[in-house]
Amino acid sequence: MLRELTRGLGTTLKSMFERPVTVQYPEEKRPVRPRFRGRHVLKRYDNGLEKCIGCALCAAACPADAIFVEASENTDEKRFSPGERYASTYEINMLRCIYCGYCEDACPTEAIVLGDNYELSFTDRRDAIYDKNMLLEPAPAGMQTTPQKTPSGVFTRSVPDMKDPQD
Ligand code: SF4
Ligand code: SF4
Repeated sequence: MLRELTRGLGTTLKSMFERPVTVQYPEEKRPVRPRFRGRHVLKRYDNGLEKCIGCALCAAACPADAIFVEASENTDEKRFSPGERYASTYEINMLRCIYCGYCEDACPTEAIVLGDNYELSFTDRRDAIYDKNMLLEPAPAGMQTTPQKTPSGVFTRSVPDMKDPQD
């Protein structure tokens, strides 16, 4: 009896000197794992053009029917992305999304990426539909946002040459 009591008190005493494991969220945030799948981001090229070409392959691959894409024509006067078309509407219903990453895998230009943001909360169902303005990352520093005026005959190719994936 006395032995158990001493062991119990010893455990309590030991834990008093251990570092606390409580994370003071939201002031303090734990880093996510490298392959964590969080909120989506629509990426840009270094020159500020959007990677998304409005092909809707992500929407076709999505098992939850969470993505809606509508494409429009690019012109050299008003260019959003390389090639013929860009996504004039891009929406993801975050209430439907199961964060499987199939959209990321299906994308031919690596435009849609599941990032590390896990802070998704809504008080209205409509707020769960993230539109292009919310998903598109800002243009790199010093680069013009879209649409851009571009020289004729330069951005004719929708899908750039890519390296073999490493994993
Ligand atoms: S992560 Fe999966 S469920 Fe979510 S939008 Fe992409 S394909 Fe659809
Ligand atoms: S995110 Fe990728 S797959 Fe989806 S419409 Fe844009 S380019 Fe196509």
